[in-house]
Amino acid sequence: MPGKTEMSINSIIYGPVPSWRLGRSLGVDLLSTEGKTCSFDCAYCQLGRTIHPLVERKEFVTLSRLAEELKQVKRVTADYITFSGVGEPTLAVNLGEAITLARSVLGLPVAVLTNSSLMTGEDVRHDLSLADVVVAKIDAPDEETFRQINRPFVKYRLQEIIRAIKLFREQYKGNLALQMMFISSNKDCAKEMAEIAEKLQPDEVQINTPLRPCAVRPLSPEVIAPISAEFSSLKNVATVYEAPRPEVNPLDLKETLKRRPKINI
Ligand code: SF4
Repeated sequence: MPGKTEMSINSIIYGPVPSWRLGRSLGVDLLSTEGKTCSFDCAYCQLGRTIHPLVERKEFVTLSRLAEELKQVKRVTADYITFSGVGEPTLAVNLGEAITLARSVLGLPVAVLTNSSLMTGEDVRHDLSLADVVVAKIDAPDEETFRQINRPFVKYRLQEIIRAIKLFREQYKGNLALQMMFISSNKDCAKEMAEIAEKLQPDEVQINTPLRPCAVRPLSPEVIAPISAEFSSLKNVATVYEAPRPEVNPLDLKETLKRRPKINI
């Protein structure tokens, strides 16, 4: 299983990696811990189990270190700077400042991939509002399925997290994408998931299934197609099977593989 604790983290910037929605995505890992630090322990996580469960924000990487590393990659060809990495990026208390810094140094739009669990906090919603694109995850229509799939450490219930995304949607001027991961345990919940998406009014919906190696098997294109059809009343619905992937040349393959164990899927 990738994301092992013995790997040392030398660089907080990795990629670019091909992203099915963001093109060539230059990753910034503001946590950069050895082993995954997350507020969830999703059954399908490509990084293996959560080594460091965490629900409180803190500083992991200083802004001066980020500035130093950004200067070194100034000439990279990428479509987005994406805050992601070995865990949940909103756990970094300096995320907002880091977004502003990265955009100003590289002159690229910024995306954040979040599991949504800390969006109940006004500080987190504020930081995310500084990004050009926010990809927020919702994988379950009810509390039981939420606990089964995402195995949260946060105390918030699913409905509180959904309400927080709605609050964010009402204030956010950027592009909000909702990402929904479908696996065997929620494949029959597409209608309820589409109802949640309708309430949240995202700019796009990304219907995913875990194609990268993990503990859970992906659903086939034949199973994903009727799931996607349930979302027909929403705009910009895409599934992982339809997505083109751009060619990329990672800056440092070793650093990239720590965060994206299989680059080309
Ligand atoms: S939220 Fe993301 S990093 Fe955290 S356990 Fe789930 S898939 Fe892995």
